[in-house]
Amino acid sequence: MTQVTKHFTGEELQCKCCGRMEIPPAFLGKLEELREAYGKPIVVTSGYRCPRHNADVSDTGEAGPHTLGAVDIAVAGADVHRLLQLAFIVGFSGIGIKQKGPFSGRFIHLDDLPATTHPRPRVWTY
Ligand SMILES: [Zn+2]
Repeated sequence: MTQVTKHFTGEELQCKCCGRMEIPPAFLGKLEELREAYGKPIVVTSGYRCPRHNADVSDTGEAGPHTLGAVDIAVAGADVHRLLQLAFIVGFSGIGIKQKGPFSGRFIHLDDLPATTHPRPRVWTY
């Protein structure tokens, strides 16, 4: 395992197709800050995606947020309220919310993309 922050490993955050992990340090810092404030494990279901992999799994194509620095976190129920509260405080600029359907498929997306390149701040639903 390659520890990239106190609580996250490169393996947790790497591209599922090729193993690359190019999430910028500034985003990793925010993710760790969130984890510290949350105080319990955060399960990342999707971290870095290379452009090709992102195009395979997302309609954002080869330049989606996950190619620049984003995570999807598996979370449902009461924990969502707490995690969202902290995500706003830490300062994530893009927050996507999937909270319909079975708990096992629910998540929140977090990124910190700048308004200079993306329409941020934004909250959206899936
Ligand atoms: Zn890949």
